[in-house]
Amino acid sequence: MAIRVTIWNEFRHEQQNEQVKEVYPDGIHEALASYLNKCKGITTKTATLDEPEHGLTDDVLENTDVLIWWGHTAHHEVDDAVVEKVYNRVHAGMGLIALHSAHFSKIFKKLMGTTCDLKWREANDKERLWVTAPNHPIAQGIGDYIELPAEEMYGEFFDIPQPDHVIFTSWFTGGEVFRSGCTFTRSNGKIFYFRPGHETYPTYYNEEILHVIENGVRWAAPVDWKDFNFGNAQPLEDM
Ligand code: ZN
Repeated sequence: MAIRVTIWNEFRHEQQNEQVKEVYPDGIHEALASYLNKCKGITTKTATLDEPEHGLTDDVLENTDVLIWWGHTAHHEVDDAVVEKVYNRVHAGMGLIALHSAHFSKIFKKLMGTTCDLKWREANDKERLWVTAPNHPIAQGIGDYIELPAEEMYGEFFDIPQPDHVIFTSWFTGGEVFRSGCTFTRSNGKIFYFRPGHETYPTYYNEEILHVIENGVRWAAPVDWKDFNFGNAQPLEDM
């Protein structure tokens, strides 16, 4: 069965800022969807902030295996009730891929339990993402590193809990480093944070970046929507 992906985008910068509109005329969600739709075994839907329930109705969430999240300027406008539903769905097994400034989204912060704060600078730094877990499924098909000629800088310290794996570690022209690709598990759910993708740069047209996101989707997809057996338990042996 195909992996059902919902790409959620705040979709504000692309409508309000001419420079961003030029890079992503149909929105970041459509740029990602047009790539993922061509990937074998993946189907996509999109959802945006200004739709009713932000496009994340019960029906949409119940039919989503992996949710991709891009937000920046309007994190506070995301309804807490929707965040709660996404949070519960992740614990049930839905994968979550948090992109770039989604480090400050309500859902990511709630799942991490830390401030998720970091250093940043918009100055056209070059970014080199070094692969620091070469055998991880998310790094498959990528060489020693990915280089982006210009990106926003994010620098350590990045206030996240200890990741399960750090797949990428970025270096920037200014000298900073950053844990750019991190995985986490929460109950049944797998989470991948992936840093690149500031709205003024054409990062989501870069084939390697898109390939990593595709790998992330395949990795984060639920293997099984397991029900855990909690509570009082009968012994398995005679006692
Ligand atoms: Zn940014």
